[in-house]
Amino acid sequence: MQTGNNRKPLMYYWIGALLLFIILRFGLGPVLNNENTKEVSYSQFIEMVENKEVTEVQKEQYRTVFKAKKDGKEKNYEVGNWSDPDITQRLIDNKVKFGQVIDEPMSPFLSLLLTSIVPIGFILLMGYMMSRSLTKQLGKGGGDFMSFGKSKAKIYVKSKTGKTFKDVAGQEEAKESLDEIVDFLHYPQKYREIGAVCPKGVLLIGPPGTGKTLMAQAVAGEADVPFFSISGSEFVEMFVGLGASKVRDLFKQAKEKAPCIVFIDEIDAIGKKRDTSGFSGGNDEREQTLNQLLNEMDGFDATEGVVLLAATNRPEILDPALTRPGRFDRQIRVELPDLIGRKDILKVHAKDVKMGDNIDFEEIARMTAGTSGADLANIINEAALRAVREGRNRVAQEDLEESIEVVIAGQQKKNSVISDDQKKIIAYHEVGHALATAIQTNKKPVTKITIVPRTSGALGYTMSVDRDEKYIMTKQELFDEIVTLTGGRSAEELIFNTKTTGASNDIERATKIARAMVTQYGMEDDFDFVQLEQTHGRYLGGENRLIASTGTADKIDQKVMEIIKQAHYRAIEILKDNMDKLHEISDYLLKKETITGDEFMEILNRENSDVSNKEENTDVNLKDTNNESDKIE
Ligand code: ADP
Ligand code: MG
Ligand code: ZN
Repeated sequence: MQTGNNRKPLMYYWIGALLLFIILRFGLGPVLNNENTKEVSYSQFIEMVENKEVTEVQKEQYRTVFKAKKDGKEKNYEVGNWSDPDITQRLIDNKVKFGQVIDEPMSPFLSLLLTSIVPIGFILLMGYMMSRSLTKQLGKGGGDFMSFGKSKAKIYVKSKTGKTFKDVAGQEEAKESLDEIVDFLHYPQKYREIGAVCPKGVLLIGPPGTGKTLMAQAVAGEADVPFFSISGSEFVEMFVGLGASKVRDLFKQAKEKAPCIVFIDEIDAIGKKRDTSGFSGGNDEREQTLNQLLNEMDGFDATEGVVLLAATNRPEILDPALTRPGRFDRQIRVELPDLIGRKDILKVHAKDVKMGDNIDFEEIARMTAGTSGADLANIINEAALRAVREGRNRVAQEDLEESIEVVIAGQQKKNSVISDDQKKIIAYHEVGHALATAIQTNKKPVTKITIVPRTSGALGYTMSVDRDEKYIMTKQELFDEIVTLTGGRSAEELIFNTKTTGASNDIERATKIARAMVTQYGMEDDFDFVQLEQTHGRYLGGENRLIASTGTADKIDQKVMEIIKQAHYRAIEILKDNMDKLHEISDYLLKKETITGDEFMEILNRENSDVSNKEENTDVNLKDTNNESDKIE
C-alpha cells in the first residue's frame, strides 16, 4: 500500500513537467523571443543599414528580423515588411548577410503529439484520477475501478468482533433466540438428524441504540464462523445495477464460506415497500436490489449453513415480501430495557471505568426510564469525563446523576424520559386493560404487562395470548375485546379524573371492531344479515368502503357509538368493583416496570382465589406485541 501511494505523486510530477516543457518550448517560444527584439520603423531600418550597423537580415512572412550593432552591442530588431525593390541592392552594398526564413512546417510527429496525443492523454489522466477518488468515496478502502460491483462486506471472525453475549446485558429473550442459531451453526447434524430446519433469516427489530448491531456482533463472536457484515445503505449506490450485483456477490462469497453468518444492518435502506401504484418510477435501483435479495434468499436453504441476520428500527416500512415465511421467518424484538435491564447495562459498561465504592446503580436505573442501552453507555462515559474534569480519579454517584441530564437533554424532544407522574398514569392505564381482560371470564389470560416504552411507539402494553388460535369469534368475545380496550381509559378516568392521549390507539381499534360487528358481521338485529361495507385490497392493507345509503350510514354510526358506550360502561364497572386490586397491581407495576402474567394473577387471586384463569403461559406470540399496544401522539 505504502509504496504504491508514494509512486503515484512522482508519476504525476513527471507528467506535469513534460507538459510544462512542451508548452514552453512550442507554445510560448515565439513570445519569449519577441521580448528580446525591438521594433523599429522601416525608415529607421534603412538608416541603420546605411550606417552599417546592421549585420544580418532575415525576411519572414510578415516581418523582417535583423541584428544590429549599436554602441558595440549586438541586438535583435524587427521591422514590418515593405515593398522595397532597392533593398536587396542596398544590403549588398553595405555587406549585410541576408536571406529568407523558410517557415518550416512542424514535424508531423510533433504536431500529432501536440494536437491529439497530449490532450487525449490529459483527459484520460483526469478521468482516471476522478474515478479513483470516486471509488474511494464509495467503498472505503475499496481497490481499483474494476472492483466496483464487488460487495465490500467486511469479514469478521471471532477474534475480530471480540464481542460475546456477555457484552449484551438484559435482552434475555433475544439472546435465547439467537443462541439457538449459534447452536445450529456449531452442531448442524444435531438438527439435521431430527429434521429441523434452521430459520433462514432472523430479523432484529427495535428502537435505535438497543443493541441490535451489538447483538449481531456477539452472535459472530459466539458462533466462531465467518461473519459478513454490511449496511443496507451500502447497497444503494450511484450506478444502476450495482446494488443488485453487490447482493449477488455477497451471497456467492457467503456460500463459499458456509457455514457462516451474513448480517445486513439497517436493512430498511433497501427493504422499503416497493411501489405498488406503478405511477412514479419509484426507486428502480433500490427495487432491483431488493428483488435480488429476495431471489438470493430463495436460492439457498438453511441446511447449507448460511444464516441471514438483519436489523432494523423501522419494521413497518419493510416490504411484506421480506418478512413472509421462508425469508425472515424469525423476528426478534429488541426492546428498550426495563429497570433490571438498565441496571445490568450500567454494570456492563461500568466495568471499563474506575467506579467509586458506593455506587447505587439501581438508583440511576430508576432515574433513566425510557432510555436505550446506547444512552446508558453514554451516561457512564459522560460521568467518567465529568470525574476527570473535577480532578478525581473515580466516578462518583453524583457524576452519574449529573450526566443523566447531559445525555437526556440532548434528545429531550425525541424520546424524553418519562416523568413519574406520567409513569403513574401509564401504569394505571395498563392495569386497567389487564384487569378488564382478566375479570371477564371468557377472556385470555394476561401474560405480561409493562410500562417500558415499546418499539411501536406505545408507552406501555398489555400482552395477552390466546390459548388456542381462534378462527371465528362470537359477538360476546368481540364485545369483551372492546371492553378490554376501553379499560385503559376507564382507569385514567376513575383514578385521575382525566383523559389522556394515550388511548388513541385503543379508540381506533375499538371503533374498528364495533364497526365491523355492525357492517360486516351482521351482529346487530336492526341490520340483520346485510353487508354494509366492502373490503378492498385485503392484501394491500385493506380499506373499507361503505355500500349503504346515507340514511343507513347515520344509523350505523349510532349503533357503533352505542356498542362502545356500553363496553366503556362495563369496563368502568369492572374496575370499580376491583378498585383495591387496581391500586395494588399498579403500585407493583410502577415499582417493577414489567410484570409477568403470573405475578399479575397472583396479586389478583390473593384473597378471592376462585379465579381459574391462572395459567402458565410464557409462550408469548410476538405478533401480539403490536396488537395489544396503544400509541401516544
Ligand atoms: P442499535 O444497532 O440497536 O441501534 P447498537 O448495537 O449500535 O444499537 O448499540 C449502541 C451501543 O449501545 C452499543 O455499542 C453498546 O455500547 C450500547 N448498548 C446497547 N444495548 C446494550 C445492551 N443491551 N448491553 C450493553 N450495551 C448496550
Ligand atoms: Mg445499529
Ligand atoms: Zn391502552
